[in-house]
Amino acid sequence: MISKMRRVSDYKQLTKELPHIRYVDPEKVYINLTTSRCEEYQLNVEPGDTVRLGQILGEKDGCFFKQPIYSTVSGTVEGIEKKVDGTGIEVECLVIRNDFKDTYDSSITDRPDSVIDQMTQDDFVEIVREKALVGLGGSGFPSYVKLATEETIHTVVINAVECEPYLSSDYRLIHDQPDQIFQGLSYVMKAVKAERGVIAVKKTKKELINILEREVKRYDHLDIRIAKLGDYYPQGWEIETYKNALGIKVPSGVLPTKLGILGFNVSTCASIYDAVKHNMPITKRYLTINGDAVKFPQSIRVRVGTLVKDLIKLCDGFTDDAEQVEMIIGGPMMGQAVDTQEVIVTPTTTSVLVFKSITDKEEPCVRCGSCVINCPVHIQPVNIMSAYKRNDTVSMKQLEADKCIECGLCAYVCTSKIHVTDYVRKAKASIG
Ligand code: SF4
Ligand code: SF4
Repeated sequence: MISKMRRVSDYKQLTKELPHIRYVDPEKVYINLTTSRCEEYQLNVEPGDTVRLGQILGEKDGCFFKQPIYSTVSGTVEGIEKKVDGTGIEVECLVIRNDFKDTYDSSITDRPDSVIDQMTQDDFVEIVREKALVGLGGSGFPSYVKLATEETIHTVVINAVECEPYLSSDYRLIHDQPDQIFQGLSYVMKAVKAERGVIAVKKTKKELINILEREVKRYDHLDIRIAKLGDYYPQGWEIETYKNALGIKVPSGVLPTKLGILGFNVSTCASIYDAVKHNMPITKRYLTINGDAVKFPQSIRVRVGTLVKDLIKLCDGFTDDAEQVEMIIGGPMMGQAVDTQEVIVTPTTTSVLVFKSITDKEEPCVRCGSCVINCPVHIQPVNIMSAYKRNDTVSMKQLEADKCIECGLCAYVCTSKIHVTDYVRKAKASIG
């Protein structure tokens, strides 16, 4: 049997061993008001207004959910400018000049444990909704929708696999703040009355396993275990994680919650802790700046709304021999290429990768079948690509392009250097 997973060099050594730096004091932050999902918004503030850290500035609208917009610094509202977000689209942003005082909004207060102990699922859901928490692994899906599940959940899985090459932001989070992760997990378990919690991590991350195993002893009143998974890509794809961590195969098209499993990315889990315990929305996050065109790659704790341009400066810019560079927001397999540094850090920005431009010319498809063999969801990337090129919607549907998880493996393995994933992604969007 041919495995549908692949060993992909992880290139993480460089950043995971560097001490991470904090860069939480940009002169200005750019808080996105629109996204590809929400094109409308209302604001409660106007230019000249003074705002506090964690203050509600308005609300995103125009999609199936409304989402409060929070300030990530204290300072003064300057106006609205267009920047680019991590999906490569232009978004409207509220510009706030930082006063470097970090004056907290009055809503940012600690919730006593005695109050948390009495909380129901609805209470947890309301906090997570109100604080606008989303999947921080990159999905951006509203966390309250997942947490509001009405299914009977037996196991909560925290996905700390971080299987994309170069990424080490989750690594830094677990390294620096393991207690937040266990606390966040205990809150989710309490909310959905789950008997078990599992933290899934790659078995090659020995330092993290030591940290997690040390920490888990402090939670021996709960049934929490650490699942050590193989070093393959896409091990972090939730279906693969559940199969290997729990031995449960989730059939295609079935929601994991139907089988009693509720999963969150590890950074999302920590954000749930911050929201529940401290009433804090997402104002900062860890991210990785890496790639062969960056002078000093770093793991950075950064304020949401910071410009990527400022972060590149912080890494001393590009290497001297990098005449032309390619920039990717997110991992090299699933990330989005952008052609500007005017990109904002959002809660879902896991990394910024910059590579020296390699002009890999696409060759004609040699029908080697490698993309088909390696596709983890068992679809036929090469045939979907052909159907897309001839605008054949019927075939794209028959070939189930909508099942693609955009893992990037088909492009990675393509012997002809064809950007197969881009074609499948476009096919998926055109029939979606
Ligand atoms: S990107 Fe989509 S089509 Fe390509 S290998 Fe991954 S799941 Fe399959
Ligand atoms: S891997 Fe590339 S060359 Fe091989 S069949 Fe797929 S698209 Fe064609």
